[in-house]
Amino acid sequence: MPARSAARATRTAKRAQPAGKTAAADKPRCGLCGKRSRLTRTECCGQWICDDADSYVLFSYARNSCWRNHRRYTLCGHHYREGHQGRWQDCAKCRSGIKTEMYVYYGTNEYNFEKLADPPTFEPTRCAACNRVIKLATEGYTISRGGTYCARCRPLPF
Ligand SMILES: [Zn+2]
Ligand SMILES: [Zn+2]
Ligand SMILES: [Zn+2]
Ligand SMILES: [Zn+2]
Repeated sequence: MPARSAARATRTAKRAQPAGKTAAADKPRCGLCGKRSRLTRTECCGQWICDDADSYVLFSYARNSCWRNHRRYTLCGHHYREGHQGRWQDCAKCRSGIKTEMYVYYGTNEYNFEKLADPPTFEPTRCAACNRVIKLATEGYTISRGGTYCARCRPLPF
């Protein structure tokens, strides 16, 4: 098998945001994608974000909405929706209520303004048929008697 050079485009190191407000004259921009138009504040953490919830097509599972991505796919959004107290970064309910692999994903994906500093380790989930590691966060899978199966071994029903 030819060794593919790192498949995922390594993001150039994110510009470290100096603490505090720099360039106050600068118009706010979406903390996730950097756009400057149609912004709103997140309800969970008060960050500037695209006011684009309406661009999401119902049941499409598209991830084209910054607003929705942050709300649906981060611990910050989950923590807020569940009405937990305190900070999501040290919330025991978030930690115990979400499967560790998903907890780490929700805490470290690109929909976060602030990522989980010290994500816990977890055993990867493997397909019960082919033993391939399944990334629960981004791949399709089915769970049935006998374990978790990847989409190649058990095509998804839809
Ligand atoms: Zn955005
Ligand atoms: Zn938030
Ligand atoms: Zn929480
Ligand atoms: Zn498989």
